[in-house]
Parts: sequence; structure tokens; C-alpha cells
Amino acid sequence: MLETIDLRKVYSTGDEAVSGVSTTVEGNEIVAMIGPSGAGKSTFIRCINRLTEPTEGEVRLDGEDLTALADDEMKAARRNIGMVFQEYNLVERLTVMENVLSGRLGYVSNWAALRRNFPPEDVERAYDILETVGLADMENKRADELSGGQRQRVGIARAVVQEPTILLADEPTSSLDPDSSHAVMELLTAIAEERNIPIIINIHEVPLAVEYADRILGLHDGELVFDGPTDDLDKNA
Ligand code: ADP
Ligand code: ADP
Repeated sequence: MLETIDLRKVYSTGDEAVSGVSTTVEGNEIVAMIGPSGAGKSTFIRCINRLTEPTEGEVRLDGEDLTALADDEMKAARRNIGMVFQEYNLVERLTVMENVLSGRLGYVSNWAALRRNFPPEDVERAYDILETVGLADMENKRADELSGGQRQRVGIARAVVQEPTILLADEPTSSLDPDSSHAVMELLTAIAEERNIPIIINIHEVPLAVEYADRILGLHDGELVFDGPTDDLDKNA
């Protein structure tokens, strides 16, 4: 379970991107965060895993306040948080399999050694997940040989292989065409259900959010202006 309590982020520029957001996400909820560009969606997600340092407030993951952790403790805690990025953040010169395996590690400097020394059970787990995302036959292709939709599926596999207790996706469909966007949303929601973990997906396309999410968080100028079941969104619109 993830809980944010009065989460606030003021950048050094003085921009207040997130202005005290309190919410709880649990079970296998599919939560879409919507709002116009600049609303603070990306900042909110990045404050959860402290890719951006929150200015104030708490982020509780399964009871533990992440904002209180030292850097090395936070590094360990990040293993529980699967992150999917808009621009995939793959390492282009590495293969699909290597990119997925990197989710089991953190930062690695020597990939040849990495590949040789990887525990077989990790490789097996990575292969299973590549099957789930439909890329098992592409494990040896380099990331830079893939289409956008395929790259994002590698990004999802990398997030899932670390066996997180929550998934965060920051505009995972914004760089994709409509067909690939639907495929990625279907995959993310299926994974949350199958693994029984919640997911927060930032999305600026409201119809896509409404189609797939159980619950909507509406952000505007850093404030949570809507937090409820997707079915209630129309009534308030
Ligand atoms: P969204 O994801 O909804 O588009 P962002 O979280 O990216 O919103 O941005 C929210 C606000 O914070 C915007 O005003 C943006 O300009 C500002 N912002 C985002 N990142 C930074 C940064 N690194 N430094 C300063 N201001 C930032
Ligand atoms: P950049 O150097 O511009 O960030 P890269 O393609 O090198 O671009 O890296 C893309 C992403 O992959 C980044 O998020 C980075 O943290 C991660 N990354 C890069 N190299 C490694 C590595 N050796 N092990 C694990 N992750 C890496």
C-alpha cells in the first residue's frame, strides 16, 4: 500500500509543482493520474521513488516513510517500486534480455561480465516476463533495433522483473501511436491484476485513462482536484 501525506514539491526555481497531495493506493487498483501538461503529474510520480526529492510531506510504502530513508536505504527500497518511463530509458546498445536483467540490479558498469555471471534463475525469470510482454523471440536484439511499442514493453518487463510491490508509469503511452498505446495499457493493467499490485499511470489522454483505470486522480496546478472511481468522473466533469 502506498500513502502520500501532504506531499509537496517546490523546485529550486520557486515553482511549486505539487502542493500538498494526500492519497492512498492499494490492492491491485489501476489508478490513472490525469491533468494538463505542467499539472505536476511527473513530479508527483518522481517524488514517490525520490528521483526528485520531495520538499515536504511523507511517502509511505507498506508503512515505511521513504522520505526518511538515507540514500543507500532508498536505493534498496526502490527495488520495490517498478518504474516505467515515457521515453523507455533503455540502454540502447544492450540487448532486450540485458535491459530486462538490469532491472534486477541497479547500475552496472561491466555488461559482459554481468551477462556471464547472472544467476540462471534470474535469466529464467526475465525470459518468463519477456514471454508475458510478447518479446521472447527478441531477447537477443539490441534495444535500438526495436519499435517504440516494443521498447516500452521491454521497459515494462524491466520494471516487473524486480518483483515490485507497486508500479509507477510516467506517461508510458505519450510517445506511442494509438494501437501501441492500447497494447501498453492492456499489458500494464493485466500485470497489475495478475501480480496483485497497484499501479499509478500518468496519462494526459483522458479517454485512455477512463477506458482502463478503476480510479482517477485529477491534478491541476499541483493540487488534487479529483480522487474517485472512474465512473464518478463523468458526473463531475
Ligand atoms: P506534468 O507531468 O503534469 O506535465 P511536471 O511535474 O512535469 O508536470 O511539471 C510541474 C511543474 O513543475 C511545471 O510548472 C514545470 O515547469 C515544473 N518543473 C518540472 N520539472 C522541473 C525542474 N526540474 N525544475 C524546475 N521546475 C520544474
Ligand atoms: P543516459 O546516459 O543519457 O542517461 P543511457 O542510454 O546510458 O542514457 O541510459 C538510459 C537509462 O539506463 C538511464 O536511466 C540510466 O540510469 C540507465 N543505465 C545506463 N547505464 C546503465 C547500466 N550500466 N546499468 C544499469 N542502468 C543503466
